[in-house]
Amino acid sequence: MRARSLTVLASLLVSVALGAQAPSIQSPEAAFGFTMGADGELADWPGLQRYFEAVASASNRVELVDAGPSTDGRRLIAAIVSAPENIARLEEIRANALRLADPRTLEEPAALALAARQPVLVAIGMSIHATEIGATQAAPELLHTLATSQDPEVLRALRDVVLILLPSLNPDGHVLTVDWYRKWKGTEFDGSNMPWLYHRYVGHDLNRDAFMMNMAENRSLAAFFYRRWHPQVFLAMHQMGPRGARFFVPPNADPIDPNYDPLIWRTAGLLGHAMALALEEDGRQGVVQNALYDYYWPGYEDSAPLGHNTVTILTEAASARVASPITVAKDQLTGGLGFSDHTPTTRFPNPWPGGEWHLRDIVNYELSAVRGMLGAAARYREELVRNFYRMGKRQVELGLKGGPFAYLVPPGQFDPHAARKLEQLLIEGAVEVRRAVEPFRVAETVYPQGTDIILMAQPFRAYAKTLLEIQHYPVRRGAPGTPVDRPYDVAGWTLPLQMNVTVDRIDQYFEPPPTTRLDQASIAPARVWGEVRKTAFYVVDGRGNGASIAINRLLKAGAQVSWLTNAMAIEGYTYQPGALVVTEAKGVRDAIEGVARDLGLRITASAARPPEDARPIGGARVALYKPWAENIDEGWTRWLLEQYEFPFENITDADIRRGGLRARFDAIVIPDQGADRLIAGHPAGTMPPEYVGGLGTAGVAMLRQFVTGGGTLVTLDSSSELAINMLGAPVKDVTRGLPASEYFCPGSVVKLELEADPLTYGLPLETAGFCAFNGAFEVQPDTVPNAPTARVIGRYAKSGVLLSGWLEGERVVAGKGALVEVKAGQGRAILFGFRTQHRAQAHATFRLFFNALHTSR
Ligand SMILES: [Zn+2]
Repeated sequence: MRARSLTVLASLLVSVALGAQAPSIQSPEAAFGFTMGADGELADWPGLQRYFEAVASASNRVELVDAGPSTDGRRLIAAIVSAPENIARLEEIRANALRLADPRTLEEPAALALAARQPVLVAIGMSIHATEIGATQAAPELLHTLATSQDPEVLRALRDVVLILLPSLNPDGHVLTVDWYRKWKGTEFDGSNMPWLYHRYVGHDLNRDAFMMNMAENRSLAAFFYRRWHPQVFLAMHQMGPRGARFFVPPNADPIDPNYDPLIWRTAGLLGHAMALALEEDGRQGVVQNALYDYYWPGYEDSAPLGHNTVTILTEAASARVASPITVAKDQLTGGLGFSDHTPTTRFPNPWPGGEWHLRDIVNYELSAVRGMLGAAARYREELVRNFYRMGKRQVELGLKGGPFAYLVPPGQFDPHAARKLEQLLIEGAVEVRRAVEPFRVAETVYPQGTDIILMAQPFRAYAKTLLEIQHYPVRRGAPGTPVDRPYDVAGWTLPLQMNVTVDRIDQYFEPPPTTRLDQASIAPARVWGEVRKTAFYVVDGRGNGASIAINRLLKAGAQVSWLTNAMAIEGYTYQPGALVVTEAKGVRDAIEGVARDLGLRITASAARPPEDARPIGGARVALYKPWAENIDEGWTRWLLEQYEFPFENITDADIRRGGLRARFDAIVIPDQGADRLIAGHPAGTMPPEYVGGLGTAGVAMLRQFVTGGGTLVTLDSSSELAINMLGAPVKDVTRGLPASEYFCPGSVVKLELEADPLTYGLPLETAGFCAFNGAFEVQPDTVPNAPTARVIGRYAKSGVLLSGWLEGERVVAGKGALVEVKAGQGRAILFGFRTQHRAQAHATFRLFFNALHTSR
């Protein structure tokens, strides 16, 4: 106590002497009771929030702003840190950044004049991956230094930079991580993994959702960056495995997406080298560059801004066990892409010799890196601001040249629900989408009024273009016989294909019609046609994912719903098989009108007798298995079921082993996980006992009983292996055991061909699907009586399989099964070989998964 009051007194005297800050800014040590990054100690989220608030209220260098909600309703917070004279005119600086972002409304001389006096906006986002906790733990110390230091280097940075410091991009995950760490600290499970994700739904994939924006955090960040505080530089701080290099800074590994201005990569290199320099000055060993991480895919929080002319920078620190130290012996150190071992090279001049590694080491590296970054941002302030404007200007000029000139989204889409989502994510990504208010002509084609136009002459052209175009992955081959370098994430994502939305690419200039700008995408309401006074039944357009929501809403309203099994002409319109037949009854009309209005599905009322061959749809009782080995695919599937309004229950190993499943459920969904891991779960001793062991042989027996008793087992991706083995299904995965030189699909969009079947209702018979290291099934003929039988419902196209991305060995999968139904006993298993609901992006094939559930009762 005595020591602390002396410290306070001392800092008070210093402050008074320098005439600087009010003396009430507590150090993090004083506020939290430990040094940031001390072994075994973590600052929790309420504490961090309180600390940021306290510093903001005491310092004229700091203002705290709200950057929007997280999934669980916490707030992402951002400290805006700069010199007091900048803080005093913050609103003007913020508005200037938004003006510089759009060169169409700002002439170059005015932009350059602005750049001469505009500080550079630098954002730092910490720990989107919550167990990569070092950056968040460094945040209070960084804030304190910037708020109180009189060091000339800091003062210069504050004068030239407005820092936007987000202490966590995933506060929900921070809470989960700190709770788990504290609970098991000092026990045999100290520093262990959690048996669940560090986010309500998607864990690590929170950083794979930046353009799709399915999660609240990514919508918040997009609004914050592209509409409020458009930064010129964004630094995202991550952690990597414990045994490689100690720290990674840019330049990144190849390949790059060529859509972005080359100034992006040059600047990332400049700032990366400045960080590396500061790290070396501070004696931090083991910093690697030009390695490990490429920036090809635009779905990271730290790559989506590239298409918005923000130079984004990734750093990765070696991890400890959360806050518990580790020891890595020299001979345990491993290399990675770009550095084969720990021999000094130009990209890795000062390897770390091995030894103890503490959370405090990570904090130290982060602080050095930020010091280097802020110093360089200050030194190159004017270039950074000017080039931000320049990149936007060049994008507009490229767009005017054409190739492409525009993308057009015509009205009357097959799946209005998917089309709405595609336009909404573009709009939230600050892409300008305009609606034609009259018909217009492009070459020989007349587009109707209501066509949406995305002109490429806009500052964030690169972002729109990369999301809408076909990817041709730049495969780089080494010496013959050496493995090809796989992309860090996926190789193709083309959203119009993945989402089955018709988007026409127009290469040449055309005269754009009068338009209005859309600030929100919506579904055009449909109406109820036909015999609305003496209605006996309704027929509802059953195409697209909205129809699955319609089924769930109508069932919930107590309606009798079935599928039309033959085409039906009614009042001059022909409904296809898979349209919904809904019997009129009390209360049904309201639900029907809601479906037409909100889901945009065409409906006709009829006074005739309902068709007798319609196939009834029951309210399926659905279970989603949640393994204790945390599973991102389970999270995405759970999110999707909620969004599309399926009632369901999560079940665990114990629920399955207990048996009696058929009495409780019609369908059980097993997310993507290999059979061995599903059965074994976490090995004993690695987790608290209630979370070890998987399904076990007992669980597998109960699942088999569920199927033979009439249940539907839905297996996603690699879990199909479990169904095949368990049922003795006559199905073989032809890709099994093949080397990468023969079959390699690192995340690409492929063409699928579907059979006409209730499982494919609501889809076109040829569609795009997402494939990522997936299997391809060959079905053996039925020879043994009463043995399970299998039938292909969907296959990889017989030729031209690859639509976007990269695929080696097309002949291996061409024509082979991608979706197979196995009948066993009274029930069945539905095996998805491809990624039917991939990260809630593959709208084109969600419906196959939904149909598997809706046909289970
Ligand atoms: Zn990470």
